[in-house]
Amino acid sequence: MSFVDIYKQLDLTALQLALHSATTRDVERALQHPRGNLHALMVLLSPAATPYLEQMAQQAKAITLQRFGHNIQLFAPMYLSNLCANECDYCGFTLSNKIKRKVLSTQEIAQEINILKDRGFDSLLLVTGEHESKVGIDYFAQVLPQCKSQFSHVSIEVQPLQTEQYKQLVGLGLDGVLLYQETYHPVTYAKHHTRGKKSDFLYRLDSPDRVAQGNVDKIGLGVLLGLDDWRVDALLMGHHLAYLENRYWRSKYSISLPRLRPCTGGIEAKMPISDTGLVQLVCAFRLFSETLEISLSTRETKQFRNNLMPLGITHMSAGSSTAPGGYGKPADQLEQFDISDERSVREVAETIKNNGYTPVYKDWQGDWIAT
Ligand code: SF4
Repeated sequence: MSFVDIYKQLDLTALQLALHSATTRDVERALQHPRGNLHALMVLLSPAATPYLEQMAQQAKAITLQRFGHNIQLFAPMYLSNLCANECDYCGFTLSNKIKRKVLSTQEIAQEINILKDRGFDSLLLVTGEHESKVGIDYFAQVLPQCKSQFSHVSIEVQPLQTEQYKQLVGLGLDGVLLYQETYHPVTYAKHHTRGKKSDFLYRLDSPDRVAQGNVDKIGLGVLLGLDDWRVDALLMGHHLAYLENRYWRSKYSISLPRLRPCTGGIEAKMPISDTGLVQLVCAFRLFSETLEISLSTRETKQFRNNLMPLGITHMSAGSSTAPGGYGKPADQLEQFDISDERSVREVAETIKNNGYTPVYKDWQGDWIAT
């Protein structure tokens, strides 16, 4: 059994109806026992919970402080390639976009590493488009040791791999895998993913099970907020998370909450989520899971990132480039999407400190348990 079997038993229409008909009484009950409670998560994501946002924020802040302290982990994405064999109409890397394509060589990666190390980073997220033949397991197996020799924590955000391939990469030092479903609504999914392997909705849905079976330490889920009803997509991600946490309890989990951003040739959000909605979403997930890591990227503005910081966020990227080789040679044309928070790493770190938090560049080293 995998999450696909669980998902097939869910009645999406009934869930959507239940979510949108939750009452204030339901919200008050949900706030009493939100932890690990999927019904409470549904209620706290509903429109009925919006007037309770202040109370949710206070509870979320207290839990986050208790569990994570005054710490914000900083990480840097490094884009290795913008080659992609898929057609996703919201992404600048989509196959039909006539942009310059690039795969970083080991020498170019070394240059990017030097820049990110100079900026103080010790946690790295390697990102590629999805192109199995040119940027596949052999490339990852070559690149990973190079990066792992310089960074304590290395995660990947690439195409779904096979279980054995995840095991191979774990053996080479891989710490985490981020794999977003984008939307859990199959019709909307089919509309936005029209070509390539990513168009197989169920294959993607099945992928986090393979990541966990590959013994990956940290697994990240995500939905692209704006493609469909964000409340329902978030709720279904909650179901996915609950299943994985229960079945693969040795792994740690994170979620990312990207809102659709402008990109070369991309679409506008059809169901946009407001700032208030995103605050509600972060608080609802923090009340649902005390240990869940929640990541906020530079897609969001600096003011909004500053305000959201105490409410449940544990990880932030800073000074990011979304183009391969973009730290050494900024090139708009190669970017996956536009970023909003363009502050330098130092500026972000200063703001974190001014808010009474500590910017954490490193919280783990493998040989701490080997000695
Ligand atoms: S979202 Fe991912 S798979 Fe889709 S076009 Fe962009 S890089 Fe490729």
